[in-house]
This record gives sequence, C-alpha cells and structure tokens, in this order.
Amino acid sequence: MTKSFENRDGLIWLNGEFIEWKNAKAHIISQGLHYASAVFEGERAYNGKIFKSNEHTIRFFKSAEIIGMNLPYSEEEINLAKNELIKKMNLKDCYVRPIAWRGGNQMGLSTSNSDINVAIAVWDDWDSYYKIEDRKAGLRLITSPWKRPAPDTAPYEAKASGPYIICTMSKEYAEKKGYHDALMLDYRGYVAEGTGANIFFIQDKSIHTPIPDCFLNGITRQTVIEMSKSQGFEITERHILPEEISKYDEAFLTGTAAEITPIRSIDNINFNTGDNTTTFKFMGDFSNLVSKTS
Ligand code: PMP
Repeated sequence: MTKSFENRDGLIWLNGEFIEWKNAKAHIISQGLHYASAVFEGERAYNGKIFKSNEHTIRFFKSAEIIGMNLPYSEEEINLAKNELIKKMNLKDCYVRPIAWRGGNQMGLSTSNSDINVAIAVWDDWDSYYKIEDRKAGLRLITSPWKRPAPDTAPYEAKASGPYIICTMSKEYAEKKGYHDALMLDYRGYVAEGTGANIFFIQDKSIHTPIPDCFLNGITRQTVIEMSKSQGFEITERHILPEEISKYDEAFLTGTAAEITPIRSIDNINFNTGDNTTTFKFMGDFSNLVSKTS
C-alpha cells in the first residue's frame, strides 16, 4: 500500500521555493479547497526526463487561463522548477504533479482579490493507480451512472479540479462494486472516457476512439494516435454508442498515470487481452517511445 502523501521526506516546490515536504501545507480557509478553484497537471518522467514536459506546461497554463487564473510564473520557470525538483529528489522514473490554486486572501466566490499559489510535487510509488498485476491481466470496468457534462456546463479542456468530483464518484462507484474502474458516458449517452484516462477500441487494423468534444484530449491519447497511424493503423475518432462496443476485439485506456492499460471487460462485454493482442504490442511500442524521447 502507498504510504500517506502528507508525511514524507523530501522537497516540494511551493511558490518559487523548495521547502520540506512535510511543511508544504495550504490553509483550511482557501478558495481552492472550498470551491475547487484549482488546476493541476499529471506528468511522468522516464529516466530523469519528463515526457512531453512542455506540452504539459502549456496545458497547465491553458487550464489556469480557462478558469480565469493568471499564474504568477512563466512557463520557463515551471519547466525549470519541475526538472530541478526531480534532480533534488534524486528520482529517475516518477510522477510529476504541478498544481495551482486560489488561496485564503479572499473567501467566497468572488475572485477579485484572490491570491494564486503554485506548487509542484514528484513521487515514484504510485502503485495504487493500477496494480501491476491488474495492468497485465486487463481491467474490469463498469459503466458509471455519472456522465461527462456538456461543454457549456464544465470547462472540459481544462484540467480543473472541480469536474474531477464526477470522476471520483464514478471511480468510487466502480470500486465499491468490485471493479477496477468506470467507463463514463457523456451527457448525450455516447462513450466518453475512463475516470482518469481516455479510451480506445480495436477491431482488426482499425482503431476507434471517442471525439474529445466534452472531455480532455489527453497527451497520451494524442501520442497513441500518432504512433498507431505511423504503423499503418486506421484511426477513427467518432461518437460511439455503448451498444456498439461489443463488436470490438480489444479496448484500452491511455493516460499519463495509466500509460496504456488493457481493458478485460466493460459491464458484461469481454475483450481479448494478452501477449498476442495489438494492445500488448502498443504497450511495448509506447514504452520504447517514452524511453527514447526521455
Ligand atoms: N481524462 C481524464 C479525466 C484524465 O484525468 C486524464 C489524465 N490527465 C486523461 C483523460 C488523459 O490525459 P493525459 O494523457 O494527458 O494524461
């Protein structure tokens, strides 16, 4: 089991300084905590280098801009801070979590006098995300009763903390029923994504994935699309209905934390998993790609 995230040794970058992990605390009375006024990133370093670091930083700033937060640092400063922190923490393969939130200068919904805080943490023991044996065997998913909201209901292009409660409730629903994770449909009833990852389906040489028109167009998703196209696979981004998914042979999730993770079943629909699948091949290709680019 992963040890508590609060009481650890090491450093966290907070508002321009490296401070002791244990002392990196936010106040109870902060807008970020009460009203989810926060945006964050999830990144991975392989052999000391963050995969697509700049793309993540750009998304971080874009997320902040979408929810009206003006980050008091430059993209270069954040890129530098991430790399310095990884070095100071003496890590090679790790997860990287920048976060920005409105602090306690002002309480309530008005943001006119808010203070913006930015922090970065890195860790290398996120085995609680998906256990290695579950990643090998493929995940069992159940359809969540919670839906991805319409684009004019939630800022879907921002990795903003607020909408994540939908993902948290979906994940909890799935885990309580004995599943690894949930499949989320969107407000129209189309297949959308996992709770923290995008979804792909495979039938022979043809790969289908939902159009990211109300959920995050993941950086891993974009990488996998490029990678599979370059290998001659035909990629179709389309609106997929839940009743269509039984026709696919394979399914997998993509995300920074999930990387490429095979899906064994969704509700009562089973998919092929194992060494002879295209998903398995993609997992190997992705692993080569990130180690080469890193
Ligand atoms: N959807 C959601 C809801 C996510 O949290 C994530 C992880 N950031 C993704 C998709 C995949 O995005 P990425 O590949 O950029 O990590």
